[in-house]
Amino acid sequence: MRKRILVTGGAGFIGSHLSERLLGEGNEVVCVDNFFTGSKENIGHLLSNPYFEVMRHDICFPLYLEVDEIYNLACPASPIHYQFDPVQTTKVNVSGSINMLGLAKRLGIKIFQASTSEVYGDPAEHPQRESYWGNVNPIGPRACYDEGKRCAETLFFDYFRQHGIQIKVLRIFNTYGPRMLPNDGRVVSNFIIQAINGEDITVYGDGSHTRSFCYVDDTVEAMIRMMGSPDGFTGPVNAGNPEEVTILSLARKIIGIAGSRSKVVFSQLPEDDPRRRKPDISLARKALGWNPGMKLDAGLERTIAYFRSRLAP
Ligand code: NAD
Ligand code: UDP
Repeated sequence: MRKRILVTGGAGFIGSHLSERLLGEGNEVVCVDNFFTGSKENIGHLLSNPYFEVMRHDICFPLYLEVDEIYNLACPASPIHYQFDPVQTTKVNVSGSINMLGLAKRLGIKIFQASTSEVYGDPAEHPQRESYWGNVNPIGPRACYDEGKRCAETLFFDYFRQHGIQIKVLRIFNTYGPRMLPNDGRVVSNFIIQAINGEDITVYGDGSHTRSFCYVDDTVEAMIRMMGSPDGFTGPVNAGNPEEVTILSLARKIIGIAGSRSKVVFSQLPEDDPRRRKPDISLARKALGWNPGMKLDAGLERTIAYFRSRLAP
């Protein structure tokens, strides 16, 4: 049975990969996006598919559609973009989530929420398990995103308890791969572009802080498995690659793989930048049978090849 699936934020980095995968599995996809950080290039190759439909719409406003499932991804994800208009970032997570939850409630359908490791803030527990409540500065520059996503989780669980709708909450850790925006300031895209152009690699702080990077195909696989999990299973579930690296070692890795002569330079660490991040994925392994397959080196090779072709004259 062909399902009609709504993907909010479908023209973004992860949303475009998810839409491609859902179409490939024989579904119909309705992509709803206001193109704040998404782009038509991300979905250009899908436009000729008769089962793919695009709507320019801001989910902070109500939406009336008939669909079978909702994946809610609409929200800028990089610090530069979510801090550009922080009030709008909180709004998309609160008003936008309420609108999408209202749609799910009216239709009696499942709804997936793209939550984030940022709900753990600058974590005092390491690695992070789903039972950890987090350490978030509620008034800092990252709060619009972190607290916005935390409030979205609250709304999802209240709609579940109060209205009995089926919710699927996945806490996604740093994801990378082709179609990341070149200008969104995220570490993988920044370092790759700097390495390809032979520019200095800008490590913030002393480079000892860590992240765990998951290739986008693995993240999409976790999303699909989460949506397909049994009724009543809500999450939250962590989805990320537990291979933890320091930012300095990431810089060296990218220089090596790109065969670049770039040098590393150090500058100030942004305010409230989490020092360590690594998911405990025991629950995803057990409940979803999910394990990220892509090694960091191999994923970086693919991502570097993508940016080389994009930056080619
Ligand atoms: P992205 O910025 O590429 O995609 C977000 C998409 O949402 C864009 O296409 C943007 O135009 C759209 N959008 C923003 N506000 C909107 C609104 N009000 N109405 C309609 N569309 C709107 O980011 P991404 O990396 O693809 O992230 C997708 C989702 O996954 C986000 O919710 C993000 O918080 C979450 N996430 C991403 C990561 C990551 O590492 N990329 C990690 C954790 C969680
Ligand atoms: N970072 C860096 N240089 C850059 C961009 C980012 O050192 O040019 C660091 C940033 O301070 C953070 C890490 O890399 O510690 C990951 O940053 P990103 O913005 O990609 O994701 P997030 O902080 O949201 O996990």
